Amino acid sequence: MTRFTRRNLIGASLAAAGAASAPAEAAAPPVARPAPSIYRYRVGTFEVTALYDGVWYRPIDEKFVRNADYADVRREMSDAFMPAEKLATPFTMLLVNTGAKLILLDTGTGGQIASTAGSFGENLTAAGIDPKTIDTIVISHFHPDHINGIKTKDNGLIFPNAEIMVPEAEWAFWNDDANLNAAPAGLKTAFHNVRRIFSDIAKDVTHYRPGRLVAPGIETIAAPGHTPGHTVFALQSGNDVLMVLSDTTQHPALFARHPDWQPQFDIDGGLAVATRKALLDRAVADRMLVTGYHFPFPACGHIIRRGTGYEHVPMLWQTSL
Ligand SMILES: [Zn+2]
Repeated sequence: MTRFTRRNLIGASLAAAGAASAPAEAAAPPVARPAPSIYRYRVGTFEVTALYDGVWYRPIDEKFVRNADYADVRREMSDAFMPAEKLATPFTMLLVNTGAKLILLDTGTGGQIASTAGSFGENLTAAGIDPKTIDTIVISHFHPDHINGIKTKDNGLIFPNAEIMVPEAEWAFWNDDANLNAAPAGLKTAFHNVRRIFSDIAKDVTHYRPGRLVAPGIETIAAPGHTPGHTVFALQSGNDVLMVLSDTTQHPALFARHPDWQPQFDIDGGLAVATRKALLDRAVADRMLVTGYHFPFPACGHIIRRGTGYEHVPMLWQTSL
């Protein structure tokens, strides 16, 4: 019996190619550009559109997870087919059409973080949405991959008619000069970036307090740890609920499976672990549909308990609403 090793599969295809005297040209040339990355689903009467901004392969080192052996982190990344020492960091934004308003949850990288991300605008166009028609932007927290898409590189507003709503505690933390001065060098860049994005539009920005609704059916819930004012969202329409986990669980292959791991980018690692477990436990108990900003596109699905952690179960792609 033939054993299908990778080597003999490659050998067989070479032999087949050699047997044909001249391989036929394909009837159509390759398109050579990606298909739009959009996924649309319903939560009650709300229409939710997941829009992909791309993926950043973020270099990491032995300091990446504060409380885990680097060998264990590397093994888990390898098991998730990530390149060595590069954390796959995909970005998915959500556009919610409540029937009354178009609400965008976080804004992506604005193409200002990695050359492999920044496709949100193209995907928005492909989804048939004009940026001018977006009524409200609700921000979960102030890391650059969530706020940079508010503006172009040249400081122009991408969504000129949208009210921008930000968590009150997040605004207070990042705009406090004492926190900027006390921050380690790596974090100072994020403080300066917050000033670049918000300083000239500060008077137009609305601050919200978690626990309140930012629109009918969109509740904000404090989820501190990743950053002090980090916020998640619960969308409710009819009997349907979608929990938007924001960055409480970054890539699920690492941080759902190992909820106790404390990555460098969680400002308060211990608090982030408690928040993560509380939200994932709730998602498991209620069999709730969830989405995570850094989950593999289209980033929605469910959470189950597995072993000492959790597992993300992707939602099956549907072609009808
Ligand atoms: Zn993020």
